[in-house]
Amino acid sequence: MALIVQKFGGTSVGSLERIQHIAEKVAQTRAQGHEVVVVVSAMSGETDRLIALARALGPHPDPREYATLVSTGEQVSMALVAMALLAKGCQARSYTGGQARICTDNHHKKARIMGIEADALKADLKQGFVPVVAGFQGIAANGDITTLGRGGSDTTAVALAAALEADECQIYTDVDGVYTTDPRIAPDARRLSVITFEEMLELASLGAKVLQIRSVEFAGKYNVPLRVLSSFQEGPGTLITFEQVGMEAPKVSGIAFNRDEAKVTLMGVPDKPGVAARILEPVSSGGIDIDMIIQNVAVEGIIDFTFTVHRDDYQKTLELLANVAQELEARAVIGDNKIAKLSLVGVGMRSHAGIASTMFTVLGKEGINIQLISTSEIKISVVIDEKYLELGVRSLHTAFGLGKGI
Ligand code: ASP
Ligand code: MG
Repeated sequence: MALIVQKFGGTSVGSLERIQHIAEKVAQTRAQGHEVVVVVSAMSGETDRLIALARALGPHPDPREYATLVSTGEQVSMALVAMALLAKGCQARSYTGGQARICTDNHHKKARIMGIEADALKADLKQGFVPVVAGFQGIAANGDITTLGRGGSDTTAVALAAALEADECQIYTDVDGVYTTDPRIAPDARRLSVITFEEMLELASLGAKVLQIRSVEFAGKYNVPLRVLSSFQEGPGTLITFEQVGMEAPKVSGIAFNRDEAKVTLMGVPDKPGVAARILEPVSSGGIDIDMIIQNVAVEGIIDFTFTVHRDDYQKTLELLANVAQELEARAVIGDNKIAKLSLVGVGMRSHAGIASTMFTVLGKEGINIQLISTSEIKISVVIDEKYLELGVRSLHTAFGLGKGI
């Protein structure tokens, strides 16, 4: 007998038929003798609808009222799922975040979980009940309803799994796992049966939008085995876990990409201590995240300094740089918001040399110019012209043998 947390996303609870379908799945897991805690998202589209209602009254809704409003989507799902379970003869009881004692700070729109007092849920499990918990929400010390940020139901599920010391946290979604890359770009992309937390973090932050990043961090920190699987299709999904000792890891596990980048270059700034800090200071003070940073070798005491930001921040970045460019007597400030980042990810890279050179050779053969490069222990990223993104992904996917071989 195992204790399993099963989280169902918006599409999985998107209609009454689907709710009945997942209730059947939960009832089956119970019938196999396992204990189950269910976590639900709002029905698909519901959170967006609620946010639009709030914004229709003004662009900056009060955070407390915003959280009170948008958390209602999950409250609908939890009660419907509990009813569907009861109708199947499966004992169930629904819980809001507050009722489940998911205690958070009072940052209403993006609260952090401080602790979970899981006694009520444990008592339910002992009595053979299936607790059905609303995802995405918690309660602050003063009793306010809080929300955990978009996609936060994943984090609710992982946090509950950690608090209850569950054997596995299963995230049911509309895809049947984590893929070597986006199958819409490389049709021969393959579902990975196992991936490490580290790899998943790299893939998630680079655009493979299967799981809320925070939930993966949380699962890694508390050692909760996480599994992503489809609620519509039978199959083992993808298990996200720690690196297995002695396991021969593939050199490259997946290819992530991101079209939301833009690059900015200050040309001809002095090669002196403190220059990088002066350039980046106004940008980070403006609340803009900087991704890659590249500075070339000085020629006659002069360098070009390049960095990338989110595409939405491109114009603002150029504005923020105007002063410092003048102070540093930069020759020009140029930029490009039609770029894309492409990354190879794999823990196997640690022990294999030559991945970067193979990558560059493949891209070179396709005539794809590499504009920027950055590397970490388990990742190599390049920035290329956006129009070559699909070609780049496909040729690397093939070159590293990631496809099904069809
Ligand atoms: N319903 C929330 C959202 O759409 C939370 C979630 O589904 O994870 O962001
Ligand atoms: Mg989600």
